Amino acid sequence: MADLIPTAPARPMHAPMTLFPLRHGELVIGGQKVGALAARVGQTPFYAYDRGLLRDRVAKLRAALPPAVKLHYAMKANPMPAVVGLMAGLVDGIDVASAGELKVALDAGADPAEVSFAGPGKRDPELWQAVAAGVLVNLESMRELPVLAAASQALGLPARVAVRVNPDFELKGSGMKMGGGPKQFGVDTEVVPEMLRWIAREGLGFEGFHLFAGSQNLRAESICEAQRKSYELALRLAQDAHLPVRFLNLGGGFGIPYFPGEQPLDLVPIGANLAALCERARTELPQAGIVIELGRYLVGEAGVYITRIVDRKVSRGQVYLVTDGGLNHHLSASGNFGQVVRKNYPVTIANRAASADLETASVVGPLCTPLDLLADRMSLPVAQVGDLVAVFQSGAYGASASPQAFLGHPVCVEVLV
Ligand SMILES: *Cc1c(COP(=O)(O)O)cnc(C)c1O
Repeated sequence: MADLIPTAPARPMHAPMTLFPLRHGELVIGGQKVGALAARVGQTPFYAYDRGLLRDRVAKLRAALPPAVKLHYAMKANPMPAVVGLMAGLVDGIDVASAGELKVALDAGADPAEVSFAGPGKRDPELWQAVAAGVLVNLESMRELPVLAAASQALGLPARVAVRVNPDFELKGSGMKMGGGPKQFGVDTEVVPEMLRWIAREGLGFEGFHLFAGSQNLRAESICEAQRKSYELALRLAQDAHLPVRFLNLGGGFGIPYFPGEQPLDLVPIGANLAALCERARTELPQAGIVIELGRYLVGEAGVYITRIVDRKVSRGQVYLVTDGGLNHHLSASGNFGQVVRKNYPVTIANRAASADLETASVVGPLCTPLDLLADRMSLPVAQVGDLVAVFQSGAYGASASPQAFLGHPVCVEVLV
């Protein structure tokens, strides 16, 4: 009888997913078929991050960028301690945004000399911890200067600082804008000379500048333009510094494809642009190490969220696959983490991924809210209770960016495989 009821039309296909192989029609993560992996983890839902893909991503990026460019991992994208530990051995530095992240980075073995700490609203104890740890603080407010000076004096340790600049331009076409007009991040360009005078007066160890103009950008030309403008701005601001620039963080913003029609970022023009900037820096800022800081681009595509189907319902002709986890673990995939228009992440039925028997279905989580939607009317392999749903592109802004306590379901597990 079901075929008499018209089913809702499927939404356009999601971005193609090719990084995880299939074996006997089953998704393979970290060399293991998803069914066996779920048994090994011992529960669903879970996130799995693939070591091989993480290593591969860093290697490909390094091959595309000039060797002089230092690569930092912005760990807020995925703060799982095992992931941070792996990344600490692959990149040149870790960027933290709280004392909590600082602890994870140091526990993971990150070299404090290559850790930087950014973020608005750093509390006094966090600034003291940063000085005691010997990490670089990216200043975001005048308020931080006397606190750091006092910590430095009391501890007998230098306070290492860079100025995070709120630039007077933005990264065009970003998923999230973090520079441009009025912002809670950084210090407005116009105020930087005054801050540099204060830094000299307070005797803080000035090392350079941090500029971060946006996030989730797939347009190489926009990224190149923002990097060029950031470089020019830093060069101009450096004239007011009492010490040479040794650290120049040009930000990142490299995006990954999530949605229909999105293409992977082209690294070739970005590599060429950074090579040209490094060449200029050799004479214009001879002591400066150029840094880019990436979160999502490094880890996003290496992760999948796996959740099990607990019910299959048909409502007025539309198939609903109800899973044991949803927006409580994966707010971004539900479309509620900064997206303006909800679009489907790439999703499949992980244990039937090669099946040609397709239907249009929606995947919904167990929460009592219509926001708990992992796939809206997608073409998926026909699935049954007990099957596993995979949400791709889930390595960044997943578990730690989700309201796990909302509605009191069990928390998810994370594994690095
Ligand atoms: C969030 C953030 C990042 C990481 O952004 P991605 O889009 O994940 O690469 C880098 N730098 C700063 C300052 C950030 O706030």
